[in-house]
Amino acid sequence: MIIKKTTQIGEKVIRSKAKKVLNIFSKSTQKTIKDLTDSMRDKDLIGMAAPQIGKSERIFVTEVRKTKYRNRNKTRKSDPLRVFINPKITFSSKKEVWGFEGCGSVLSAGLFGKVKRSISVEVKAFNEHGENFTLKATGLLARVIQHELDHINGIVFVDRADTKTFIGREEHLKMNRKK
Ligand SMILES: [Zn+2]
Repeated sequence: MIIKKTTQIGEKVIRSKAKKVLNIFSKSTQKTIKDLTDSMRDKDLIGMAAPQIGKSERIFVTEVRKTKYRNRNKTRKSDPLRVFINPKITFSSKKEVWGFEGCGSVLSAGLFGKVKRSISVEVKAFNEHGENFTLKATGLLARVIQHELDHINGIVFVDRADTKTFIGREEHLKMNRKK
């Protein structure tokens, strides 16, 4: 298992438009998927995009589950590991909702803040086996997909956040404990 260092805002790869994956079955693409999954789990994140481990490739992974950042409600829905390669959002609901986000690439700054996102999206992508799929997502999974898709276009949640809602890591953890 290889845990990659999470690249931070200020590093060029985080602000670059990632390159399309040409060969899903290549050793290097399969390694990116594996490293991304291991790193996401190690860092207690529920989504992670290739630029966050220094790879300028249009790949991200999601796994909505209990982590140290989100543990207040045991009944919250979880969602299994999903791999998205060359993803495209084909539908975004007009209805949007504000929700707190944090990011492994903003972790050294420790900021969390509210971002307005579509409540549901439809995304088309390839999985790690090279199969094309279409996924309709709502709620937290829809939010994570939009956050990660932004990453492969060089966009970070702080660009979209209401800066007046910014809070630090400790306050965010406290807020999670209270509710
Ligand atoms: Zn992020």
